[in-house]
Amino acid sequence: MHKDVERVLVSQEEIKTIVASLAARIEKEYKDKNLLVVGLLKGSVLFISDLIRKLNLDLSIDFIVASSYYNGTESTGHVTISKDLSVDVSGKDILLVEDVIDTGITLKSVLAHLQRKNPKSLKICTLIDKPARRKVSLVPDYIGKKLGDDFIIGYGLDYCEKYRNLNYIGVLKKSVYL
Ligand code: IMP
Ligand code: MG
Repeated sequence: MHKDVERVLVSQEEIKTIVASLAARIEKEYKDKNLLVVGLLKGSVLFISDLIRKLNLDLSIDFIVASSYYNGTESTGHVTISKDLSVDVSGKDILLVEDVIDTGITLKSVLAHLQRKNPKSLKICTLIDKPARRKVSLVPDYIGKKLGDDFIIGYGLDYCEKYRNLNYIGVLKKSVYL
């Protein structure tokens, strides 16, 4: 375990199980559709790459970079899109893939942005949901695992751009950011 991790919340084995079960549900729903998997960078990079390899479907992928502004570990609610999609979404069934939904502010604004492009459909898949922290109403269509309000890192999730490469999700020691 990394020295800055207090405890593991989702092990590598559990992540594998979660990804496989999400993929099975997604595969069923998108069998006869025109799936475009959109990853929110950078956090979703490990999750999306594992997820799409489990999907036995003809699909395309694209990415969006949305920056939410943070004071330490709390979102300020200000979101900008610094890299937009590069493919045409008309007739596409978009599945937006996110690492974690916390307040929901980032995703709400990315959803509105994508909706304006008039895709055929638009759904959300998040690996981790922290429903207790929600500040806007938003219910994801696919949820890997619900967690409490700890600040978590690993498997794509960062603190100050570190720890994204851990193959598990853990709680960051408070001494690292307090
Ligand atoms: P929201 O707008 O508050 O829902 O925040 C969403 C974004 O904040 C996520 O896409 C993550 O990049 C980041 N984030 C939220 N909670 C955590 C966490 O516990 N660890 C690391 N990043 C987080
Ligand atoms: Mg993110």
